[in-house]
Amino acid sequence: MRTGTSHPFVQVMWFVVDDHLGRLARLLRTLAYDTLWVRSGRDAEIVAASADGRVFLTRDRGWSEKTLPGPIVVVRDSDPILQLREVVTALGLEPDHGALLTRCTICNAETRPVEKADVESRLPPYVRKTQSQFRICPGCNRIYWEGTHAAAIRRRLTEAGLI
Ligand SMILES: [Zn+2]
Repeated sequence: MRTGTSHPFVQVMWFVVDDHLGRLARLLRTLAYDTLWVRSGRDAEIVAASADGRVFLTRDRGWSEKTLPGPIVVVRDSDPILQLREVVTALGLEPDHGALLTRCTICNAETRPVEKADVESRLPPYVRKTQSQFRICPGCNRIYWEGTHAAAIRRRLTEAGLI
């Protein structure tokens, strides 16, 4: 669950996605949504996550006929950004512009701020020179900063009308 949200009245959504939607999972995490990505052949994990209250996202229409305890959104598009727009529209989500980079896109853990001095030795020289704010993932130790990659994602999300 997201903690410390500045919007207490916005319903917190969390997700489980199937094997084919890995890029959508990473986009949802970029927007701070807690998102499990389940590899193929592990349908029991999807059922368990659904029972936990996660919204299941899939392109497989077969799922809508099976019994899942929780809601399903079947996305149609093959482009991850457009898939994200389908999900945002279907569920009436309001992505939080300020929450970008607060969740690890690789392992789904919430990142936390870290002092530059504590991560400096691991930074590429250009980043060390130009960036001052950093976050770190307690799960996989990956470091995040507002660099060109984050700016590119932000621009694509803005162009798609998502943030
Ligand atoms: Zn991580």
